[in-house]
Amino acid sequence: MELSTPITKFPNIGPAYARKLERLNVFTLEDLLNHIPTRYQDFRSVVKIKALSQGKNVTVQGKLDSIKNVYTRYGKKLQVAKISDATGQTTIVWFNQTYLVKNLKVGERYSFSGKVGGFNNKTALISPDYEYAGENATLIHTARLVPIYPATYGLSSKWLRSKVYLAIAMTKSKAQEFLPIVTLKKHNLLTIDKAYEFAHFPDNLMRVDRAIERLGFNELLFHHLTSLKRKKAWQENKVAHKITLPKGSFSEFIKALPFKLTTSQNLAIEEVQDDLKKDKPMNRLLEGDVGSGKTVVAAFAAFCAFTCGYQTVLMAPTQILAEQHFNTLNKLFASLKVRVSLITSSITSKPLGKTDIFVGTHALIHKRVNFGNVALVVIDEQHRFGVEQRAHLISKSKHQKYSPNVLTMTATPIPRTIALTLYGDLDLSILSDMPKGRQKITTWLLRADKRAGAYEWIKNQIKKDKVQVFVVCPLIDESNAETMKSVKAATKEFLNLKEIFKGFKLGLLHGRQKSKDKTAILNSFRSGKIDILVATPVVEVGIDVANATIMIIEAGERYGLAQLHQLRGRIGRGSKKSYCMIFTTTGSQKSLVRLKALSQDHSGFELAELDLKLRGPGDVFGLRQHGFNELKVASWSNTEQIKTTRSLAEDIVNNPKNYAIIVKKLGLENTSLPN
Ligand code: ADP
Ligand code: MG
Repeated sequence: MELSTPITKFPNIGPAYARKLERLNVFTLEDLLNHIPTRYQDFRSVVKIKALSQGKNVTVQGKLDSIKNVYTRYGKKLQVAKISDATGQTTIVWFNQTYLVKNLKVGERYSFSGKVGGFNNKTALISPDYEYAGENATLIHTARLVPIYPATYGLSSKWLRSKVYLAIAMTKSKAQEFLPIVTLKKHNLLTIDKAYEFAHFPDNLMRVDRAIERLGFNELLFHHLTSLKRKKAWQENKVAHKITLPKGSFSEFIKALPFKLTTSQNLAIEEVQDDLKKDKPMNRLLEGDVGSGKTVVAAFAAFCAFTCGYQTVLMAPTQILAEQHFNTLNKLFASLKVRVSLITSSITSKPLGKTDIFVGTHALIHKRVNFGNVALVVIDEQHRFGVEQRAHLISKSKHQKYSPNVLTMTATPIPRTIALTLYGDLDLSILSDMPKGRQKITTWLLRADKRAGAYEWIKNQIKKDKVQVFVVCPLIDESNAETMKSVKAATKEFLNLKEIFKGFKLGLLHGRQKSKDKTAILNSFRSGKIDILVATPVVEVGIDVANATIMIIEAGERYGLAQLHQLRGRIGRGSKKSYCMIFTTTGSQKSLVRLKALSQDHSGFELAELDLKLRGPGDVFGLRQHGFNELKVASWSNTEQIKTTRSLAEDIVNNPKNYAIIVKKLGLENTSLPN
């Protein structure tokens, strides 16, 4: 059988099992082999019956003398067996596995692995795993390091183990190494068949590490190759409208700005300029903390399009953010005669008039804008728009595909190495420094006993300085979707706080409100009519209200550090001192240490890296929420391996002749990266 053989062709896997395997993302034998054990049970110690001692995990091998069901007084069924070897006889007990009496044959030889305990005051093996150990038997469930699989969806570890064992045996001659020997040597890697063997049925744990290293290497390498392939495909498009920047327009743009650009803004602008000069459409990701000034970089690119007589489209994830961009751009372009139009659902019928930059949500833009003269598309918040959405921007004519330049912006501080893997098809610009004069947000980590005091303090602040307050309700649904549960929680908290903050004006904002109502509430908040805005966590990440200087975040331990950092970025936008109060009920010392990092002076990137170290890669950046699959074998914190596999992937794409097997395996033929 080939590695690519569908799992349904495998002996004894019918449709029911196939469906269960599909839920583990196992479709082929190769997928099955990539389903890696979470741990190994050490049953290597094979002991003679005379030498059994309680409390140990051991293997005993011998002849089955008897087995029977025994009914206890409480209606439970025990299976009691006697086995013997040359040194004596012992008892084995199982619970509620009546089928064993039929399965195990008296007089045959078996191998049993499990814990030694007591039964009726005598030494006995308790609920051991077992398998036939007659002549020529291969032992896979006992007497060795036994792989334990995450048993899910009704697939037992034992069942998976048998199938994996068989799969390894059946593909062994076909588990063809797809990397050249020189590459394996260079990176000190096991061959693929050895890697599968040692990952599942190792003879010592050191070999497991080596196997995992190889399989993780594969996983990252495939990730990179897929994104490089996508990158190549993108670069085969022609740019829809070439933007040539007339001399002097950069300084004209700079002069119109009310501030001096930061070093990284300057760098990002240079990178964008270089992209625009090419025949290939730009496909760049601009990453920067909340408030790092991404909009100016996008505005510069839009200005370039404008000076050449082309239009720009800016897509925001929500109507509120669209309005905010509209206001920001209007301010930036006040003296430059650039006409910005906001697309809203309420004016769908009205003509938009002469426009250089359209701003709106994804859906509305596609309804209203003719892309014929659009040279640049700016997408705010990458996660809500994926690869497929970018593909929609490509238009075809006879033999050629055209695309506008695309600039994607995100405030999620994904470290460069990780971005390289996740967004490997995009070029990357990072805004690593903040504009001068930004206030540091004083952040407190608070326990429940500080709550009353905190509320009193907030009341005083509102009375004294007329400041405004955000209250962010707990993150309830891990998927980050606005569930009814979160809406209910927010509504409850809103009513609760209304009681506590009598005499103050409170507002409630959540994702299930009508867009019109949301806008109305935010406008009241912006104009100062609402003192305290209670919101669900997923609502409008980028709200910019300079007078909002206090934020309460509930159940802080449920968030990643980078997420908390992003949330608190909604305050500290003006010149007033800002405060973030994070409430937590966690007793875990680890969580507290982690959360304390927020009160120190860290950038979003630093916090993200820290989370990666402290919490493990699990869900540090909310990646799962954004639809990214977890890595199965490799680790996001293995930056060395991420880098190594990236450069190998580039070499494969650039020199496919040297890598014939993997190129064929992944269908990378004729792919070469232009410089
Ligand atoms: P984000 O990266 O969160 O989208 P914005 O682009 O909205 O940030 O910028 C946040 C605020 O900072 C805006 O009010 C913007 O005018 C201002 N700003 C941007 N760049 C600078 C700078 N170099 N110096 C001072 N203020 C800046
Ligand atoms: Mg922004």
